[in-house]
Amino acid sequence: MDTIWVESNGLVIIAESVTKSFGNIQALRGVDLKVKKGEFLTVFGPNGAGKTTLIKLLATLTKPTSGKVIIANHDIKKEPDKVRGLIGVISHDAYLYENLSAIENIRFFASLYGVSEVQGRAIEVIRQVGLESRMHNLVRTFSRGMKQRLAVARAIVHEPKILLLDEPYTGLDQHGSRIFGEMLKWLKSENRTILMTTHNIAEGLEISDRIAILSAGRIAYESETNKVELTGFKEIYFEKVGI
Ligand code: ATP
Repeated sequence: MDTIWVESNGLVIIAESVTKSFGNIQALRGVDLKVKKGEFLTVFGPNGAGKTTLIKLLATLTKPTSGKVIIANHDIKKEPDKVRGLIGVISHDAYLYENLSAIENIRFFASLYGVSEVQGRAIEVIRQVGLESRMHNLVRTFSRGMKQRLAVARAIVHEPKILLLDEPYTGLDQHGSRIFGEMLKWLKSENRTILMTTHNIAEGLEISDRIAILSAGRIAYESETNKVELTGFKEIYFEKVGI
């Protein structure tokens, strides 16, 4: 999918007054967010702030209790299937079949998305994430870092222009985090629109164009990344999340 339908003001993701409740628990309490085409937004927040709930909503895996979410001009409530074809999701869980090989996994997901040249495209994305030499090995023999790279291949096999990443650094050691960080730079350089959640302030600040802090279900702060530096932002973060 080469062209992506954006609103005339260039916004690809719009969330307006979004709330999500689970019984008495209000996970999101009126979230407003806008992400421009080609922009990388990182949303920081402590445990329980609502980060996963936000990603699940944008990924059409759950519906808002109230409010509106528009992705590439599609309302997620009215056209969830169209939205699903435009996004790739990467989370701390790689969502791979452990007893299938890397190539079998990617072929399976490529078929689900209706990719036309399944075998060729699967090999291409496995190459792009640097796992070509292991493509016939079972996923259960992979390290956490390798599984996360394969999860990237899974997420981009249908060439989505929007990526949603939920705590993608979880469980990666220093080496794995460094490789994953390089991969994020590559994903960003391909002019994708990316929204990532993380607790990891240093890595999130380094890669993103814009940052936000989600605290107790609300966006408590937003800024262009180039307007903040690490120490100053850490102070703002701890103040906003009440630590
Ligand atoms: P973490 O960093 O720990 O993953 P988070 O910022 O991703 O946290 P969420 O998982 O979105 O936070 O959870 C926000 C709030 O909503 C929490 O209080 C959580 O217990 C609650 N919650 C999330 N999903 C459900 C659910 N399916 N049923 C009930 N409560 C839920």
